[in-house]
Amino acid sequence: MFSEELEKISWEETTKAIFSKTDADVRRALSKEHCNVDDFMALISPAAEPYLETMAQLSQKYTLERFGKTISMFVPLYITNSCTNSCIYCGFHASNPMKRTILTEEEMVNEYKAIKKLAPFENLLIVTGENPAKAGVPYIAKALDLAKPYFSNLKIEVMPLSAEEYKELIKHGLNGVICFQETYNRANYKIYHPRGMKSNFEWRVNGFDRMGQAGVHSIGMGVLIGLEDWRTDVTMMAYHLRYLQKHYWKTKYSVNFPRMRPSENGGFQPNVIMSDRELAQLTFAMRIFDHDVDISYSTRESAEFRDNMATLGVTTMSAESKTEPGGYYSYPQTLEQFHVSDERKAVEVWKALTELGREPVWKDWDASFDSTHIQK
Ligand code: SF4
Repeated sequence: MFSEELEKISWEETTKAIFSKTDADVRRALSKEHCNVDDFMALISPAAEPYLETMAQLSQKYTLERFGKTISMFVPLYITNSCTNSCIYCGFHASNPMKRTILTEEEMVNEYKAIKKLAPFENLLIVTGENPAKAGVPYIAKALDLAKPYFSNLKIEVMPLSAEEYKELIKHGLNGVICFQETYNRANYKIYHPRGMKSNFEWRVNGFDRMGQAGVHSIGMGVLIGLEDWRTDVTMMAYHLRYLQKHYWKTKYSVNFPRMRPSENGGFQPNVIMSDRELAQLTFAMRIFDHDVDISYSTRESAEFRDNMATLGVTTMSAESKTEPGGYYSYPQTLEQFHVSDERKAVEVWKALTELGREPVWKDWDASFDSTHIQK
């Protein structure tokens, strides 16, 4: 399990190593076809900042070679904001006395139909909070069953599950799982996640092993940028990615770097602010480090920044996202989990990407693969 590997890696020493990287270390990393985690640390370090243009060109080259000009489009659907956790940075935390919604089967279908009217989305991400008693595995399985007639590629972003539960959901059409570790800083993890199942660091970080053991086809990872030093956190994620690729090599991987914004209404203020330039550097570094990993940008990022990065390394994007449960049809006015920056309609995103010479892809998944996958 990855938690055992992580015990061998010191957070403090890693931070020190990143900030000690030199010009020579960056040049060495840039000259390599295949980088290791040490090279990745050089590429995200302050020493690499003068090389941003070179990194952008390399990132573009590797992305074109591996993905062509395609950008895979997906849409998230929150089916519940009911949650027993207390993540201090999230408006859905259990002690917030807000109205909770758990979509009924009829409401889910209404959402699916409403999404299909926005654009020909085939990649759906079903999102929940963590409330196993009221919205557990049978509820998620039902959501997948009902989504199948409308979408050919189904992913979930829900609480970490057991390997058996992931296997069960694969039988209901599950193709991918996205889970954000939020932070790999074990010492401070509990500060951000004081109560509920999510306060168990090991259970969360080892969830990726359980996904791999269950044979989940696609695994998405991410850290929440704004909690701890982002360079150290993404380095831990790079170690994790390499570990998973070694152990579960049939699986496809994606990464995401959601940035927290300063809150204007007195909510949680991020400890760390990452600039656009730093996010660009990280995106290029990740592509140079791993030519095959999908790099996903959500609508948290602005339209302008997403358009710029669409030609330089990003391969997956959401569009016209609602981050409140039932936000497309049933309850469009409820509390969002986070505010989206890119508020364009999906067809506007499609048009902008096309004008940039990209090829937005609504469906990159063949249902026939699904049946072979399930039989394994
Ligand atoms: S981040 Fe997720 S698990 Fe944490 S309180 Fe919000 S919805 Fe619940």
